[in-house]
Amino acid sequence: MDDAGTHAQPTRRKDGRDAARNPLRIAIVGSGPAGFYAAQALLRSGRQLTVDVLDRLPVPYGLVRHGVAPDHQKLKSVTTLFEKVGRSDNFSFRGNVTVGRDVSIADLKDTHHAVVLAYGAATGRSVGIDGENLPGSLSATEFVGWYNGHPDYRDLDVALDTSAAVVLGHGNVAVDVARILAKPAPALASSDIAAHALDALGNSRIREIHVVGRRGPVQSKISPKELRELGGLEDCDVTVRPDELALNTESRAELDDPRAEEAQRRLQLFESFAIPSRGSVARRIEFRFLSSPVAIDGDTRVRGIMLERTRLCGKPFSQHAEGTGEHYRLEAGLVIRSIGYSGLPIDDGVPFDVDRGIVPNVDGRVMSRGTPLPGLYCTGWIARGPRGLIGDNREHGVRTAKNVLEDFPEDATRDARPGIAAIDRLLAARGIRSVCMDGWRRIDESERGRGQRLGKPREKYTCIEEMLEHAAEPARS
Ligand code: NAP
Repeated sequence: MDDAGTHAQPTRRKDGRDAARNPLRIAIVGSGPAGFYAAQALLRSGRQLTVDVLDRLPVPYGLVRHGVAPDHQKLKSVTTLFEKVGRSDNFSFRGNVTVGRDVSIADLKDTHHAVVLAYGAATGRSVGIDGENLPGSLSATEFVGWYNGHPDYRDLDVALDTSAAVVLGHGNVAVDVARILAKPAPALASSDIAAHALDALGNSRIREIHVVGRRGPVQSKISPKELRELGGLEDCDVTVRPDELALNTESRAELDDPRAEEAQRRLQLFESFAIPSRGSVARRIEFRFLSSPVAIDGDTRVRGIMLERTRLCGKPFSQHAEGTGEHYRLEAGLVIRSIGYSGLPIDDGVPFDVDRGIVPNVDGRVMSRGTPLPGLYCTGWIARGPRGLIGDNREHGVRTAKNVLEDFPEDATRDARPGIAAIDRLLAARGIRSVCMDGWRRIDESERGRGQRLGKPREKYTCIEEMLEHAAEPARS
């Protein structure tokens, strides 16, 4: 391995013991923003420690690589910071290692003092309605993974041979999905969108995109910035039915709250869309409110979706949608549900809250029956649920790192742990080809080179075997 990550700076401690021989060894599971921000906070602490980050994919950066929309390249510049963390002496990366299968949490605990779970929320929630499994019905996780070149979704069959699509949910992911469906393919060609997706979107027949929310415009979770961007799309109308913008008393009270500046801006934008469609554009995005999915219909593939009109019930800020019994149907050959993500359990030894899709924790300390489990921590979406922007993980990572360091004080005695060297031996014995930071750099360089030839920032490898091939050290002649 060429970034063995075990080079703690040798400093003698006052008590005469050599701290560098027994650094605090921390394993982090997941190399997305949560994992890298936690690694950064630990490495900045000035303590004698090593940080080993493992990821199931051969490539790092999780949601930044496979979640952030390709036409939002600026958001991906955070990888410059992560690259810097990756160059730290006491850092190592091992990709292509599935924790819970290739190595267990028990293996990591045997070889490290602390394990931080930062593996995110990898699955799309299902609505639980008939027809959800028909061809043409997808989760946003699948669709986003497909256009971003995630190896799990490269062969996804996306029904773009249809004139209408329905996107369920009024969050920022729904807007990403609608925008990618609505944009002319040439406008995506200079992004890092996967080649297979660019080709397929170039031949898309979709003209109407209905973005459906079960509550009203005030309760929508879409950021005004994202809405404004939609409004400026080339050759695309964004429309709202004026009657669906009518507000009840409770929603007006929500808008009057001094903290409601974002909701007010959002409503103004929705109001600006409530004008007749220009009619001559290539595509149209229509926001629908107060509509809850009831069933997806079709025989061998999706043909449409039945929705129930809802009304809002409850007090301001806790209004929920209740069915009115009135139904309507939207014809569509593609339904993408973007109703939030959920985490998955990782290993038998780790508690999991099935209802919330998170690892139960108090401030990042993993809890079992009300007691913290020694040496086990979590951070990011797997700790607090799938909410917030990339940068929000920084604060959480800092807090989790602080707790790890508090639980392992500098002057306390502890057993020495072998760290990544022992994990490497286990992986070798189990026939797992892991990818280190230098291996990733080789993949990165090759992807950038492919991209440059096409006028893109990179052309991603979307197949694990291909990634492993390019991660390998070139043979010496
Ligand atoms: P989200 O913001 O939680 O939105 C989920 C949407 O799904 C809500 O409109 C919710 O409605 C709806 N929903 C949930 N269950 C439903 C059901 N059973 N039936 C119908 N609708 C249902 O989640 P997200 O869009 O996946 O985003 C996740 C996080 O990533 C967010 O914090 C988001 O801001 C962030 N993100 C940011 C960007 C960006 O800044 N560019 C881009 C992408 C994602 P209710 O409100 O009624 O529950």
